[in-house]
Amino acid sequence: MPVTIPFHRDLEFSYGEAAQISPLIRRVVARNPGPFTFHGTGTYIVGRGKVAVIDPGPDMREHFDALLKAVDGETVTHILITHTHRDHSPGAKWLKEATGAKVYGFGPHPVRPGEKAVEEGGDHDYTPDERIGDGDVIAGAGWTMEALHTPGHLSNHLCFALREERALFSGDHVMGWSTSVISPPDGDMADYFASLKKLLPRDDRLYWPTHGPAIPEPQSFVRAFIEHREDRERQILACIADGAMTIPRMVEIMYRDVDKRLHPAAARSVLAHLIHMAETGRVRVDGGSEPATYRLA
Ligand SMILES: [Zn+2]
Repeated sequence: MPVTIPFHRDLEFSYGEAAQISPLIRRVVARNPGPFTFHGTGTYIVGRGKVAVIDPGPDMREHFDALLKAVDGETVTHILITHTHRDHSPGAKWLKEATGAKVYGFGPHPVRPGEKAVEEGGDHDYTPDERIGDGDVIAGAGWTMEALHTPGHLSNHLCFALREERALFSGDHVMGWSTSVISPPDGDMADYFASLKKLLPRDDRLYWPTHGPAIPEPQSFVRAFIEHREDRERQILACIADGAMTIPRMVEIMYRDVDKRLHPAAARSVLAHLIHMAETGRVRVDGGSEPATYRLA
């Protein structure tokens, strides 16, 4: 039986309006809906009076104005970045200019040969003022956040754990509405599995992903994601055994019920699985053909 993920997709919001969604958290959704962003980028404002902003979002004047309006009369002391896709980090530049706040993140967008712009593409203009990594704690007025390095979707991906509410800002690592795209060479399936498993022993009460609504009972949700990926690997082995030995053929079979616009991204995730399965001795690749042919090891 295929694994069913209990997705969370119901979100009440109005573009450009800050909504108070917990005692310490407000959210403003940017008007950049799409097949990878759902309704758009959810920018989180944490605290009152002196606040942190997580993922100021895309380069979009309307969203910039909405954020400044939301924090009118307050001081932005920190800008935190989960990762450097263009729907997350570009807004850091103008928010920093407007507020003087420092930008905190893991590092610039990783440049790797063979990078393909699926999803929203990379923000190559971004550099954090302060580089932070796993376990680093950032504290402000009434809030404390711990960074968790969660590579997989992107090697510089961080989640932020808000201690006061036992809530985790999960970025694109764990989203309620959809699985994450893992696109090699920077997207890495082995890292992604490890970053999912890293969340299991934690006692977070709730996740706030960048796209879509909150995820309650997040540990069982993460477990479903892990099982879903393990299931995909079994499906890939079954495809190969049935003679569907190239990625385009595998995508046609495994994603036949999925929106065709998502097939190129699905192909990247299948490639990520196959790289991981080759590294762990489960498949062999014959790279001499185009597209490459995969066989059981
Ligand atoms: Zn992303």
